[in-house]
Amino acid sequence: MSHPGATASDRHKVVIIGSGFGGLNAAKALKRTDVDIKLIARTTHHLFQPLLYQVATGIISEGEIAPPTRLILRKQENAQVLLGDVTHVDLANKTVDSVLLGHTYRTPYDSLVIAAGAGQSYFGNDHFAEFAPGMKSIDDALELRGRILGAFEQAERSSDPERRKKLLTFVVVGAGPTGVEMAGQIQELADQTLKGSFRHIDPTEAHVILLDAAPAVLPPMGEKLGLKAKNRLEKMGVEIQLNAMVTDVDRNGITVKDKDGSSRRIEAACKVWSAGVQASPLGRDLANQSATEVDRAGRVKVNPDLSIPGHPNVFVVGDMAFVEGVPGMAQGAIQGGKYVAKIIDNEVKAREHGTMPKPREPFSYFDKGSMATVSKYNAVAQVGKLEFGGFIAWLAWLGLHLIYLVGFKTKIATLLSWAVTFLSRQRGQLTITEQQAYARTRIEELEEIAAAVQEERAS
Ligand SMILES: Cc1cc2nc3c(=O)[nH]c(=O)nc-3n(C[C@H](O)[C@H](O)[C@H](O)COP(=O)(O)OP(=O)(O)OC[C@H]3O[C@@H](n4cnc5c(N)ncnc54)[C@H](O)[C@@H]3O)c2cc1C
Repeated sequence: MSHPGATASDRHKVVIIGSGFGGLNAAKALKRTDVDIKLIARTTHHLFQPLLYQVATGIISEGEIAPPTRLILRKQENAQVLLGDVTHVDLANKTVDSVLLGHTYRTPYDSLVIAAGAGQSYFGNDHFAEFAPGMKSIDDALELRGRILGAFEQAERSSDPERRKKLLTFVVVGAGPTGVEMAGQIQELADQTLKGSFRHIDPTEAHVILLDAAPAVLPPMGEKLGLKAKNRLEKMGVEIQLNAMVTDVDRNGITVKDKDGSSRRIEAACKVWSAGVQASPLGRDLANQSATEVDRAGRVKVNPDLSIPGHPNVFVVGDMAFVEGVPGMAQGAIQGGKYVAKIIDNEVKAREHGTMPKPREPFSYFDKGSMATVSKYNAVAQVGKLEFGGFIAWLAWLGLHLIYLVGFKTKIATLLSWAVTFLSRQRGQLTITEQQAYARTRIEELEEIAAAVQEERAS
């Protein structure tokens, strides 16, 4: 165990876990505060998750939505970016343990901001992940791109009609915004971009199914917008199956239980999971050491100031926190990150001046609305009481995503990629590699080999 980065500075030490919306915004908001920030994250980039589906379907490249965190913070001299997987927070000793390539580093803190987000939830069926990847990371998106395009390639080589049908059936589980966007884009990829590029199969015969255990599409956006999205998807050719609960997933397809209790199979080679989230296990680590609790989704029940009970210097923000009325969306994390930075700034300045800090106001969330694209030139949006869909909503979606993408170059590159896709039928990022398509299986094989070697050594 070592203490790299430990400085002689006696400045207030802020450790931030995560370089997503919550962590990055907390770090940036502390730019002018006299503190030493260490931002520890398990990836070197800041990921703009809302556009992952466009990486998976070949519209944009991964670099466009994942700029390196250290370049974003290059000019912020009070911040150091550290790569590492945080495995433990020691609340009593005020330290954070992170692992990089088998080496554990211990970092002390005075204030801690935990913004480690959430992963995919398979509702206790983690083995589904092997056959139905979720979409939470660049790895996931590239793997899905490999699986989607790989299915068309295999179908072209198959002379068995049943197998071809299975290869050209795509099932997206979960009809929330990500599922809707993903289903729409697979359908457009097949109908527009790939059309005419195969000789043995007709890609437009691809069968895209969007299914959900709930009775509606886009439930958080209300009945009217849900219906709009459903109608549009159906018009494009996507089959919507509601009240359909997935009970099993395997290499060749999924098993579904319908509302009437009957069970059926859908043969499909390519499955995408976008049905649920589970907050970072660091939440449970905190709950084991403090009076706080986690809810069923693993989110930490925080105080009104986003700190955890008994530890006013430890804050949890974004997808990891449970705050009544705050959705698991980018704005919740951005606003939470900025809010806790303001508390830290206020208290550090009060200490410097030997005055009492202003009492902490409770966190209050400002709902800026939500939106989802359904297809090219079509989206649904909800801003306050206003609900609208179609081209105007799509333009609003386009503008807002450009505003929130980090970095000027990223915005220009994304805009160019969108121009290629939206003004023509082309997509600029249809490259797939063997590594992308099979990485998960190969890593699992490596893990199995490593476990077998260890077992052999032990015996
Ligand atoms: C596919 C998809 C589409 C979405 N679309 C939208 C949308 O259209 N609009 C919207 O508002 N929201 C959308 N969201 C939700 C939004 O992206 C999240 O609410 C937001 O990213 C939460 O921010 P966060 O900072 O809490 O977590 P994240 O942004 O997930 O960041 C978590 C950070 O913690 C790091 N991390 C995790 N565990 C560890 C660890 N143990 N050690 C070190 N680092 C760790 C990660 O590497 C990452 O840097 C979408 C999410 C997904 C997955």
